This record gives sequence, C-alpha cells and structure tokens, in this order.
Amino acid sequence: MFDVIIIGGGTIGTATAWYLSQQNLGKIALLDKGNIGEGATSWAASLLTQVRAKTEAIPLVQETYRAIEALEAELGISLGARRVGSLQIAASDKTAQSVENLVSIADQYGIPNHWMDAREVQKMLPWINAELIQKASFMPRDLFLEAYVLANAFANAAKKAGVQLLTDTFVTEIVVENDKIQGVRTKDNFYPCSVVVDAAGGWSNLLSNPLKLPLPMAPVRSIYWITQADPVQFPENQPMTVLPDARAYTRPETGGLLFGIRDKASPYVNPKDLPEQYTGKQFITEEERWEILLEEGKDFQDFFPKLESVSIAHCITGVSTYTPDSRFVLGPTRIYGFYAATGCAGAGVAMSGGFGRATAELIAGKTPFTDLSPFQPERMGTFDPFSLEFMEKCSAARSNKRDGG
Ligand SMILES: Cc1cc2nc3c(=O)[nH]c(=O)nc-3n(C[C@H](O)[C@H](O)[C@H](O)COP(=O)(O)OP(=O)(O)OC[C@H]3O[C@@H](n4cnc5c(N)ncnc54)[C@H](O)[C@@H]3O)c2cc1C
Repeated sequence: MFDVIIIGGGTIGTATAWYLSQQNLGKIALLDKGNIGEGATSWAASLLTQVRAKTEAIPLVQETYRAIEALEAELGISLGARRVGSLQIAASDKTAQSVENLVSIADQYGIPNHWMDAREVQKMLPWINAELIQKASFMPRDLFLEAYVLANAFANAAKKAGVQLLTDTFVTEIVVENDKIQGVRTKDNFYPCSVVVDAAGGWSNLLSNPLKLPLPMAPVRSIYWITQADPVQFPENQPMTVLPDARAYTRPETGGLLFGIRDKASPYVNPKDLPEQYTGKQFITEEERWEILLEEGKDFQDFFPKLESVSIAHCITGVSTYTPDSRFVLGPTRIYGFYAATGCAGAGVAMSGGFGRATAELIAGKTPFTDLSPFQPERMGTFDPFSLEFMEKCSAARSNKRDGG
C-alpha cells in the first residue's frame, strides 16, 4: 500500500518523485511499464532555453536549473550539463520584433543576455550564413543536457530518499470511487493509494479518459537530424540556436550539428496507436526521413548553405505531447487525489523541475511556488481527446512553436 503513486518515469514523473520525497508524505512509489527514461525522454533534443514568450513557463525552467545543481551535490556526480548558451536569431522584421520582446522578458526574469552582431555570431557558428542575420541575442547561461541522464538522476535521488521505483509495471486502470482515488491496477496487482499523479506522457489520456477526465493534449511527432562530426564547421562549444524564420533549432552534438525542423503540419498519433516502447525510429519511414529534410528544410538551408553536401549520421523521431494552447497540463482535478503532470508542449525536459516541485507542493497542501492557473487540466471542458479535430489543434501548436527545442 502506498500513499502516493506516480505513473510514468520520464523527466516529469521522476522529478515529481524526487520533490515528493522531500515533503514527508508517507510511502511513495513510481510505476513505469518499462524502465526509467525510456519514453519520449530518451529521444529529446534536450535544449533547456530559459526565455519563453509564454512567461508563466519561465519559473518552471528556472527550477530545473536549480534542481540540476542540487542533484549534482546530492548524488556527487556531474550530469554533464553543457552551458554553451543560446542564440535567438532573427532574419525578418517580424522575428526581430519577437526577439526584442524575448530580450525584455529575459531582463525581467534576470536571464543574462546581450546583443551580438553578425560577425560575432559567424565566429561562434562557422556554418551559418551570417548575411541573413538581422538581430541576434546571446543568452550565455543557457544549457542542454541528456534528458535520459536527468531522469535517472531524479529517480536515483528519489530512491535514495525512500521512493520505490517499480519498473516493468504496467498500469491498466486508475481506480476511482465516488470521485475519489482508491488505487491503481497493474497487469499483476492492485495497489491501494489515496493520491495518483498521471505523468504517463503520450499515454496519459489512456488512463484518465476512462474516468471521463480528458486531458487537453495529444502526441505529436518531432524530428531532428545529426551531422557527421566536423570540428571546424561545428565547434564543440558552439551555442544552441533558435531560428524561428526557419522553424529550426540547433545545438552541438559529439562534434557534429544537431538540427531540428518543425513540420508545417506536424503529424500526430492517436494515443491508442502508440507503441508500448519508443525506438527513436518510429512514426516515419526511411524514405520520409530524407523527404522531410528536403521539403521542410528549405528555409533552414538558407541559414546553413552546406546542408546539401553535409553527411548526416542520424535522424531521430519521437512524439511528445502538445496542447491546443501550448500550455502545460499540470494540477489537481475534480477527482479527489488525482493530479495531472503532463502535456509538456515539447518542453518537458526544460520544465521538469518546475513540474515536479509544483506537483509536490500541491499534494502537500502548500501554495505552489508559481502561478499554475494557466495549466489547469480541465480548462478546456468536455471534448474527445482522440478526435481528429482535437488532435489537429495540438499538431498546429507544435508547428507554430517559435521557442525552445
Ligand atoms: C524529438 C524530440 C525532441 C524533443 N526536444 C526537447 C527539447 O529540446 N527540450 C525539452 O525540454 N523537451 C524536448 N522534448 C520533449 C521531452 O522529450 C518531454 O517533454 C520530456 O521527456 C518529458 O516527457 P514525459 O515525462 O512527459 O513523458 P515520457 O518520457 O514519455 O514518460 C512517460 C512514461 O510513462 C510511462 N507509462 C505510460 N503509460 C504507462 C502505464 N500505463 N503504466 C506504466 N507506465 C506508463 C512510459 O513508459 C514512459 O516512461 C522532445 C521530444 C522529442 C520526441
């Protein structure tokens, strides 16, 4: 018997476990149908850019930065965070305006930043066509790190503090009576508990919707490529970039360049059709990987003229969860003891610390450290999360995203 059960061992579920372990809430378990960090978490590009146009997200990412330091101190290991900084780059008047807006937001939230001219950017990014750059803001404290490493660090620290990690444990049902949590049923067992956190990523609605609690999110595909190593073109310490005019982002990766491009119409997946495990090669055929690059990469090629001749080492796809309004799904629900910590809007590595802390504070009956009202799980009322119309809205949110990874 447990007091709190978290379903899902991605960055969000494991962060929640670690923060809950600090709240004196009795017996806590984290259940995952596979191993820790094997869902979307394994395939993330893992940019943790701090500045966001939707400013309510910023305290969440800033909490993740604090968590990384605390985990390193607690576990006595390095999580391999790469503090290379990020560049917000504008090549049009419209984007220049939005970068100026981001800079004023960064100033408000104490995120260090300074303007860079095209020559300075070119020195840091030998591959870029600097002639296109109208405006560039450098945020030197931004970092990236492997999401899988982060999830395992959260999980190990939670385990050290007494949380039980039950892997290979498939939850088939959340049991509710009179709008109150009774426990969770797995393939082999029933675990009574009074609090459940649904942190099941793309699968979250499969657990909540049978309770007539549709969560406003759907799994939407993301894709990125990694070039062969070339230390001259792609210096190891080059900053991450956000290139809204190309619907693209980049970061260094083992001597090569990792670049992601947002499809104009991002494909979505019905949660009922999700595989039990992701492999990083699903949701796309071998031919499509290159067709998409040719078709969707045209604007990115303007920034990276050698794209056509560069050798590509890898193409990675995965799904993360998007919401129609690009806001997370985080908070209590009308079912007493049922909390949602999901709907990551493609930013659940960056936001994991904030998700974990806020959920733990809510369950402990404390006022959360930041305003969670924009993230209310039931803000969209009644709808069918598996309908094409709804999933298309979630896909449009991914296509229109202009910040982060
Ligand atoms: C290609 C790609 C690029 C991305 N880039 C970035 C980026 O640059 N920055 C960023 O912040 N984010 C990025 N993301 C998003 C990021 O991966 C997620 O937001 C993050 O990993 C959090 O995921 P999660 O914990 O919600 O879900 P997951 O990692 O999918 O975890 C959910 C877990 O729940 C478990 N589960 C599900 N159903 C059940 C069940 N019935 N019983 C038991 N266990 C269950 C699964 O096994 C899984 O381990 C990217 C994602 C993709 C796919």
